Amino acid sequence: MPEFPNIPDGFLRSVLNSITEHIVVIDCHGSIAFVNNSWITFGQDNACTRDGDWLHQNYLEICDRAVWRGDKTAGEAVEGVRAVIKGLLPYFYYEYPCHSPQTKRWFTMRVTPFDLASHQYYVITHQDITDRKLAEQQVRRLSRVDALTGLANRRTFDQTLHDEWQRARREGQPLSLAMLDIDHFKLINDTYGHPVGDTCLKKVGQTLTGFTNRPGDSCARYGGEEFALIWSNTSEDQARELANRLLHSVADLRIPNEASPTSPWLTISIGVSTVIPAIDMDEDRFITQADQALYQAKSNGRNRVA
Ligand code: GH3
Ligand code: MG
Ligand code: MG
Repeated sequence: MPEFPNIPDGFLRSVLNSITEHIVVIDCHGSIAFVNNSWITFGQDNACTRDGDWLHQNYLEICDRAVWRGDKTAGEAVEGVRAVIKGLLPYFYYEYPCHSPQTKRWFTMRVTPFDLASHQYYVITHQDITDRKLAEQQVRRLSRVDALTGLANRRTFDQTLHDEWQRARREGQPLSLAMLDIDHFKLINDTYGHPVGDTCLKKVGQTLTGFTNRPGDSCARYGGEEFALIWSNTSEDQARELANRLLHSVADLRIPNEASPTSPWLTISIGVSTVIPAIDMDEDRFITQADQALYQAKSNGRNRVA
């Protein structure tokens, strides 16, 4: 390591005190040898200290007391610190939630050992990563949801269908799938413009949410002007009845589609498939059957359930 002969006394302390990460240094027994200003300020702001008097407190004991009070996070953190002290881990990294009643917050903790004058010390740094966590949550949410309608997107739907398929198979219950396509939607775009078409998609999507009231039910925008619904624990008769009610609810929106040869209002066609999944059944075939039923509803004149 290079030496820096021109560095005045207190220089490194000032550097540590200007860092936003909260830093504490402990020895192998947990005795606190150093805390920086960010550590002290965080403690004061969160009412978790002994008036700034951290030196010669025992970090491990403070954590242990939190564990006794039922703090699971403190338990996992202190276990990591002890693993580094025992030499079982070269370092320890931990991300944890630390929500206050007012705000959601997340932190990282890193424990790194170092040697000085044949004494072993451990630097523990805590960093606020709330902005990153919130951004990650937002990205996850956006990747699951269709931006226009706010419904689940196809990716989410495929996953949900897979989960419900497995569940229905375990429980020996019927599972119903409805594939739905807006009739002559292209004519709505052509007649009234694309923004009106978008509004129609939102209204149809909104109507669908009224038909997924039971746990295990869900709906999604499957693509373009196609939607899909899962009705779990739902028999063929119940699914047919639900689909017919949905068909009428959409027609009752009375959204004009004057150029349509089949109805002056926006209508939909629905294909329904119901199955009690068996061990040797193919999930994709279940989707194909609903798709084929939809195709049949279209070729039989649209605005109907097949
Ligand atoms: P059919 O009754 O046979 O289903 O006829 P259709 O006109 O509904 O079907 P087609 O597949 O010919 O046209 C679908 C149209 O949906 C074409 C496409 O531009 C439109 N579309 C797809 N996604 C969107 C969207 O996000 N917004 C709008 N406004 N239109 C969309
Ligand atoms: Mg289509
Ligand atoms: Mg269509």
